Amino acid sequence: MSQYHAPLAEMRFVMNELAGLGELAKLTGFEDATSDTVEAVLEEAARFATDVLDPLNRVGDRQGASLDASGQVTTPSGFRDAYRQFCELGWNGLSKSPDFGGQGMPRLVAAAIDEIWNAANMAFELCPMLTAGAIEAIELHGSEALKRAYLPKMVAGEWTGTMNLTEPQAGSDLAAVNAKAVPQADGSYRIFGNKIFITYGEHDYTDNIVHLVLARTPDAPPGTKGISLFVVPKFRLNEDGSLGARNDVHCVSLEHKLGIHASPTAVLAFGDNGGAVGHLVGEQNHGVEYMFVMMNLARFGVGMQGVGIGERAYQHARAYARERVQGRVVGSAKGAAPGSIAGHPDVRRMLMTMRASTEAARALGYVTAAALDHADRHESAEVRRRELAFAELMIPIVKGWSTELAQKTTYLGIQVHGGLGFIEESGAAQYLRDARITTIYEGTTGIQANDLIGRKLVRDDGKALADVVTSMRGVHLALSDAGSDELAAIGARLHAGIEALEDASRWILAHYGNDPRIVLAGAGPFLELAGIVLGGAQLARAALIAARNLGSGNGNGDAAFLQAKIATARHFADHCLTLAPALRDTVVDGAAGVLALADDEL
Ligand SMILES: Cc1cc2nc3c(=O)[nH]c(=O)nc-3n(C[C@H](O)[C@H](O)[C@H](O)COP(=O)(O)OP(=O)(O)OC[C@H]3O[C@@H](n4cnc5c(N)ncnc54)[C@H](O)[C@@H]3O)c2cc1C
Repeated sequence: MSQYHAPLAEMRFVMNELAGLGELAKLTGFEDATSDTVEAVLEEAARFATDVLDPLNRVGDRQGASLDASGQVTTPSGFRDAYRQFCELGWNGLSKSPDFGGQGMPRLVAAAIDEIWNAANMAFELCPMLTAGAIEAIELHGSEALKRAYLPKMVAGEWTGTMNLTEPQAGSDLAAVNAKAVPQADGSYRIFGNKIFITYGEHDYTDNIVHLVLARTPDAPPGTKGISLFVVPKFRLNEDGSLGARNDVHCVSLEHKLGIHASPTAVLAFGDNGGAVGHLVGEQNHGVEYMFVMMNLARFGVGMQGVGIGERAYQHARAYARERVQGRVVGSAKGAAPGSIAGHPDVRRMLMTMRASTEAARALGYVTAAALDHADRHESAEVRRRELAFAELMIPIVKGWSTELAQKTTYLGIQVHGGLGFIEESGAAQYLRDARITTIYEGTTGIQANDLIGRKLVRDDGKALADVVTSMRGVHLALSDAGSDELAAIGARLHAGIEALEDASRWILAHYGNDPRIVLAGAGPFLELAGIVLGGAQLARAALIAARNLGSGNGNGDAAFLQAKIATARHFADHCLTLAPALRDTVVDGAAGVLALADDEL
């Protein structure tokens, strides 16, 4: 088995050169995010991931979480202790507000650290990820009393958080939620109903679990405008904040899943014994709006799962390819001994595609995280508005595209292993099984694609995307003017990609109002097109910066690393950006077949 090592040089390069960590550190509240501090934080995280989380990944897969007759969930050996260490080392509060005990690091730093946790052990990372979303929802919309009662413990990791949206009839469509919330004389509510698929809905890491639950009050209007958000703790709190009576929420079963076996996915019953006590977050009927805060963060977080698991699968396959000897490598001297499979052009192609895809997705993720930081903290309102528009455009792409890429990288990871990849002992199969959920939870790829078109592109008449296109055109010009054949070749592919994306967007904007069906028939391909072009543009920027640093001889990083950045961007341009014109055609012309047959003829 390979050992995971966080790709620190690459992460540093992307944070500093592409996402602008230096600029972020100038913003009020981020003064501590100097490159020295961030470097130290990354190194510590990398150590914890390699030493503690990565070795538990297989244990978690094999043992899984289990539920006993009393409703108690036991996580796999070592996970509880790893969680304790994780919290003691302060990782849970890394980017949380100092007002509640956090360290206030930028989201950019948190994104890089989350990538590390996901690569080492995605099933473990889900718990802090959901807690982070619950903290954000309470912090932004909860009363002062709720914040004081819950946030310090949640930031410290002493209590964890969950997100309770899904019910058997309400998955992608939240309008169908029908859990009930009945107001009580003391201002609290009694919650009734069943929630399914609740990640870390029950576990043995902590004494308390803080469920954020969507439910309807008795007079609420139908649809999403009648849903409210409630805090429902597993144990109610006494006046002094200590743990009180057990609340009426119970885990009735755990799902048997394809992957992430260590993450308990619970069916929760609320109110079987008189009603679970809940506390309203914000105002009644605004629950979906508040939950979107959590979901946006969680969607971004799932995108970083795609990056992390892609990186892990790549490292695993690369290690195997360097060792596995099979056949004489084509082009080697006559009579040469068989070489490692890393010499075979097709294996090299697979490894380079895994590497380039992961680097592109990482760059998109980090740049988006930095935009969220600027949107929160920049002193200029205009900059905040612009960065928020960019980040909102990017979130469905980071979520949808990075996780779809992870399917390809983990698939290729198995392919590099040959037959052994299909055998569980190789470890490659676990990455594929674990990655599979990432395109489904927090909104499927189909939902992300609809969001990208309906909410992001059409709602602002394509303005946010037009700004991105303008900056990508600048990258293309710089590549053409750089006086390098290599960069010009990348630039030519990028140019064709930009044209394809602009063309497809123009077509969507022209047709969505009259016939959304023909547009949404191509929503998935449009999401892929946007991901490929935007990701390719980030790799092209990286290649430009690498060439500049190499030329000036003051390279930020060593020469081999910088050369590899250029080679990776070239690979992405020739193997992935080349798909952009074809995807454009599918978006623009592809509806006929999609819509031809009746539902019962499909
Ligand atoms: C392991 C796991 C963990 C999870 N964790 C949580 C959790 O912590 N909290 C929580 O609340 N939920 C959780 N979920 C639920 C998850 O978010 C949902 O499964 C997901 O949103 C999809 O909903 P669904 O399963 O009902 O599928 P459906 O909504 O029935 O979708 C089925 C198919 O139809 C497509 N589809 C549906 N509507 C549309 C549309 N309007 N346009 C285009 N295509 C559409 C989908 O893309 C999909 O391909 C989890 C699920 C799993 C499996």
